[in-house]
Amino acid sequence: HLSQRLATVASYVPQGARLADIGTDHAYLPVNLAKRGVITSGVAGEVVPGPFKNAEHEIHKENLSDQITARLANGLQAIEPTDHIDTVAIAGMGGTLITQILTQDFDRLAGVQRLILQPNVGESNVRQFLMTHGFQLVTENLVSEDGHDYEILVADRQENPTQYGAEDLHFGPYLLADHSPVFVAKWQRELARTEAVLQQVESANEVPAEKVASLKAKISEIKEVLQRVG
Ligand code: SAM
Repeated sequence: HLSQRLATVASYVPQGARLADIGTDHAYLPVNLAKRGVITSGVAGEVVPGPFKNAEHEIHKENLSDQITARLANGLQAIEPTDHIDTVAIAGMGGTLITQILTQDFDRLAGVQRLILQPNVGESNVRQFLMTHGFQLVTENLVSEDGHDYEILVADRQENPTQYGAEDLHFGPYLLADHSPVFVAKWQRELARTEAVLQQVESANEVPAEKVASLKAKISEIKEVLQRVG
């Protein structure tokens, strides 16, 4: 069975999808979806030989070799036109890496209607990428598991996606509108952490003015949001 984080990613894969899971490691996501009859076929992409072997092993063990193909490839290069992939998942990496992977071989997304992305950090980079590359954010989720908060972003191809401002890019338009207890707790922690960093920086001998200013800006941005929703 899947972690709550991966189960949430899985819940946004449409019935009958042809899925590419990029950075699949053990291929738990496509294997689970194939076993439950959600996906009709899948590609499990990995760039590192060790995890690629894990994926191959898992797919073979579950007798899913007809449905899921493991490929040793960098990012979207795991996707071939003949796969007719319509859904791509990328989970468990930094937002900057996810954005790099999507940008590098963007043409491979030609038939793709839905992206399901789970950045560990740098979520605003991912939202920025989506709205500038013809993908409309359709929902977001925030999962708290093992002391970590994980944001899951779901986007569908659309010609003129909503152009979000800084606050929506940073906090997530849907997460902000929901302002769930998990969301409030996450940003309360982030506020406390940033305030501690500011204190440390200010007590240092040479205080870089830019660093102080950016920390203060971050603190007031979070405070403003928490006052509104908390
Ligand atoms: N997606 C799984 C999950 O969410 O549980 C595994 C996450 S694991 C922390 C990240 C995986 O991404 C690693 O196995 C790593 O080798 C792979 N990876 C990193 N960069 C990649 C790239 N450019 N192309 C394909 N896989 C990549």
